[in-house]
Amino acid sequence: MFRSHTCGELRKSDVSKEVILAGWVQTVRKFGAITFIDLRDRYGITQLVFNEDLNPLLDQNPLGREFVLQATGFVIERSNKNLTIPTGEIEMDVRSFKILNKSAVPPFTIQDDTDGGDDLRMKYRYLDLRRNAVKKNLELRYSVNRSARNYLHEQGFMDIETPFLIKSTPEGARDFVVPSRMNGGQFYALPQSPQTFKQLLMVSGYDRYYQIVKCFRDEDLRADRQPEFTQIDCEMSFVEQEDILNMFEKLIKRIFKDVKNIDYTDAVERTTWEDAMWTFGNDKPDIRFGMKICTLKKPISVYLNKHDHAALINEAGFPVFDGAETVLAVAVPGGAAFTRKQLDELTEWVKRPQIGMKGLAYIRYNEDGSLKSSIDKFYNEDRLKLIASAVEAKQGDIILVLAGAEERTRKAMSELRLEMGEQLGLRKKDEFKLLWVLDFPLFEYAEEENRWVARHHPFTSPKPSQIQTMIENDPKISDAANYLSHPYAQIQANAYDMVLNGNEIGGGSIRIFQRALQEKMFEALGMTQEEALHKFGFLLGAFEYGAPPHGGIAFGFDRLCSILGGSESIRDFIAFPKNNSGRDVMLDAPSTIDDSQLKELSIQLQKSN
Ligand code: ASP
Repeated sequence: MFRSHTCGELRKSDVSKEVILAGWVQTVRKFGAITFIDLRDRYGITQLVFNEDLNPLLDQNPLGREFVLQATGFVIERSNKNLTIPTGEIEMDVRSFKILNKSAVPPFTIQDDTDGGDDLRMKYRYLDLRRNAVKKNLELRYSVNRSARNYLHEQGFMDIETPFLIKSTPEGARDFVVPSRMNGGQFYALPQSPQTFKQLLMVSGYDRYYQIVKCFRDEDLRADRQPEFTQIDCEMSFVEQEDILNMFEKLIKRIFKDVKNIDYTDAVERTTWEDAMWTFGNDKPDIRFGMKICTLKKPISVYLNKHDHAALINEAGFPVFDGAETVLAVAVPGGAAFTRKQLDELTEWVKRPQIGMKGLAYIRYNEDGSLKSSIDKFYNEDRLKLIASAVEAKQGDIILVLAGAEERTRKAMSELRLEMGEQLGLRKKDEFKLLWVLDFPLFEYAEEENRWVARHHPFTSPKPSQIQTMIENDPKISDAANYLSHPYAQIQANAYDMVLNGNEIGGGSIRIFQRALQEKMFEALGMTQEEALHKFGFLLGAFEYGAPPHGGIAFGFDRLCSILGGSESIRDFIAFPKNNSGRDVMLDAPSTIDDSQLKELSIQLQKSN
């Protein structure tokens, strides 16, 4: 027997039992003739005591950090208890021990606060994974996985695997491609998601499908992206949008309960895409705090149609506002007390290249009801009052105002709102707020190519009431400058995103399930009939054989775990992640391959000079 107990198991009630433990040496401490060792395994840490009679043996077999050790002895009560760990009331009085394996000195300490930098930890990820902090993240990931599986199983969903070697049909991100040896000169692609397969499974009558599955996208990486990532991927037949929203907000609430013991009893709030853009400046708003954005001026051509306060801000002779396409404002609670220095810092913040604004105007709404602003010269107190009331500012607030080009200003204001939320401590890690974002536009205009692209993906259906508009109109954009006046610009998708604390954690749609409409969609995206057949002939064919109405959703599993774990980075929740350049620094991948391998694959590399 290697061990009778784990290192996290023994308690006071075990005192005087003879036990065998096995694990890794966390620390070795010598006090005179007595040696203490913390022995660690996945389950915890137990203190071992080597009394002086074992000294000769210890001298012959010195122990070091991360040695693998088996020890036999008796459980005794500790005189000096450590109540911060579950085994802290006992220790093992070691009678004999055996070194099962030695260890080189690890390149960093295997502790919560390690001295290892990111690169080092990734290179020795197998050691990093021994650290409690990392282990906790993987445990959380597993409990999210189990919770999702339990719920989906109870709801009749079936886990069905779909292939990884598929056909390249890039749309959105780039595909990772895999050369085929048996079909020289031809390539598979790794799936960006199992989208078409799950739809085919609906055509096949499987009714409720799910998979916790790897997806592959060859994108430029940001800190929170990985080239391979995991989705909780789901699809259902005979459903409308409402059925999906119901089914999957319950999934997330169940995960909250199982993983965090949170009873999320509130109904999940909903917003339209348009309202989200207006009031928060982006389509994944953090609604843990208010501070809604007020549009004081908007461009005539803007796609968004509401919330016009133009009369309050125009024609005051202030060139910055008069000349700007958009003027946006937000009231920051308690901000009237901001010092000059704070405001200067905020101004510098909005001028940073990432934010890209020329400056920041402000209106202090003082506690005594008076208003004082950086634009006093142009706006008298009455007009400032009107602005304050449009922004729903209260006495004691400060109103921050940005002006500039529509898209950039909206983005900047959205960032400024989040920054203020952060500074005021309104974005609490332990508070979770879900939101459905609905009614997205079906299409987005790609300026460089002068064509429509699918906002979600090409399988998303328009709202039933807008199918006719889509079918009857020619998708071609004849007047690029006025693309917004094209009927396609107004078509809304039967699509939905789930947002958690300002992060998009899931998205999906009700799908097109008729061949003619799917063909029209491909046409709208600028594909010729031949192209559509070449890329998606299998799907168009399947739609000829009794495809049921269906829809689905996919959740970003890594991101969901990182938010529940209170971390910014999804890497912390992936056992073997890639770095920001998409490299696995432990494996040193990607790497070159042998000439013989290349030859077998019929691949010739271009000479780089
Ligand atoms: N396949 C989609 C995605 O990966 C999700 C869905 O529509 O179900 O974004």
